[in-house]
Amino acid sequence: MTESAPKAQAGGTIIPVTLFQQNCMLLWDEATRQAVVIDPGGDVPLIQEAIAKANVKVEQIWLTHGHIDHVGGAAELRDALKVEIIGPHKADDYLLDNVESSGANYGITGVRNFRPDRWLEEGDKVSVGGLSFDILHCPGHSPGSVVFYSQAMKFAHVGDVLFAGSVGRTDLPGGSHETLINSITTKLIPLGDDVGFICGHGPGSSIGQERMTNPFLTGMA
Ligand SMILES: [Zn+2]
Ligand SMILES: [Zn+2]
Repeated sequence: MTESAPKAQAGGTIIPVTLFQQNCMLLWDEATRQAVVIDPGGDVPLIQEAIAKANVKVEQIWLTHGHIDHVGGAAELRDALKVEIIGPHKADDYLLDNVESSGANYGITGVRNFRPDRWLEEGDKVSVGGLSFDILHCPGHSPGSVVFYSQAMKFAHVGDVLFAGSVGRTDLPGGSHETLINSITTKLIPLGDDVGFICGHGPGSSIGQERMTNPFLTGMA
């Protein structure tokens, strides 16, 4: 558990996967042991090991966006666990249609194109056990990026939208820096300084820490 991991009745562990060291997250309700896997980018055996070690029952796979390092293991894990894939926003459908070609670009084999069982939209809710999350559509890094936010836990999983000291890259197809900054300032900053978050790569942080020191938000970048 890192400092920014959810508290309340939640448990969680981070499994860094793929050559991109993507923060795949196993998140569960401590009371019921019901769990979700957020962004299974690859290294599915490692994820399954973490699930067994935590002794939880995974019920869904949640995706923050469609980039290969976040979804490369999604189809394989769905088949192994017989669970549904939820998210991201439909605007990332073109990325999910190109998981295989994207994998080929990075020398990643064994990945498959897929469709989620449910797309997510702004205002939607998802839950695992007694833990409920609001969906915030935060385009910019990719058009269909979503953030999972729990008001009760003061916790968010922001994918590649915002990082400790940085923001998501916007040089990939469909990216827009202006749109990304707008998503952060209109959707994430208003969540409040005391909201902690986990992001797709590297350490987590809090909204307040980033509001005050992130050079992309203070105008110093
Ligand atoms: Zn990404
Ligand atoms: Zn990423």
